[in-house]
Amino acid sequence: MHRFFVDRSQVEKEKIVILGSDVNHIRNVLRMKIGDQIQISDGSNQVWLCQIVQMENDKIETEILSVEESFAELPAKIYLFQGIPKGDKMEWIIQKAVELGVYAIVPMRTNRVVVKLDKEKEQSKRNRWNKIAESAAKQSGRTVIPEVLPIMGLEEVCHFVKEFECKMIPYECTNEKGVGRTRKLVEKIQPKDRVGVLIGPEGGFEKEEVEIALQNGIEAVSLGKRILRTETAGMIALGMIMLFLEE
Ligand code: SAM
Repeated sequence: MHRFFVDRSQVEKEKIVILGSDVNHIRNVLRMKIGDQIQISDGSNQVWLCQIVQMENDKIETEILSVEESFAELPAKIYLFQGIPKGDKMEWIIQKAVELGVYAIVPMRTNRVVVKLDKEKEQSKRNRWNKIAESAAKQSGRTVIPEVLPIMGLEEVCHFVKEFECKMIPYECTNEKGVGRTRKLVEKIQPKDRVGVLIGPEGGFEKEEVEIALQNGIEAVSLGKRILRTETAGMIALGMIMLFLEE
């Protein structure tokens, strides 16, 4: 069943009004009619089953039939700081990270990122990336739409995660400590914690960058004894966290 996201202000006692681009999507792309049913979420863990009762050009009125609690969200907020990869890999990373329960994705600029994005290009990329996040959230039954935040440099990321309860930089040169240490770090994550995961681009992190992260309380962890592609690494890290958090 199709799921749509609204702002809390659009939820009334017995009805929910749909506005914006979803109106056109429902009317002209999905060609839905009065009487059809859809699911609506407002970013909380509630999901309403609704029936379309009125369709206008700029809004669609639905009647609330029932409401249920959804447990699709992880209890902690995981932020993926992704070294901007080449080509359109970022789109794949965003889609999979949303399926895996990520809370937000931050494109990260580090020394070995080769992609150059000026302000205008960054904005158009972010618009596209956020559309991908929204469609992945709908497909995977999320009750929130993870946001792709503005690009940050490593120093900004270190500042951003300062108060996070858990922050890690997967670094393939820490293998001597193995995944046992990673498991210990992940097991400590509690509901409502904010978790930061920093993943390098194809060329990885420079040693100095890892040093800066360590000086800011970000722990270097191993994701195993093999070198993972940048698009694989974030997914493994999210999977490890999800394994302990999902229940
Ligand atoms: N140095 C790598 C190489 O020799 O190909 C390049 C970096 S790897 C393609 C991209 C990122 O994935 C790394 O910066 C790191 O964040 C993460 N990564 C890959 N394999 C890892 C591992 N075994 N343990 C921890 N992190 C890993």
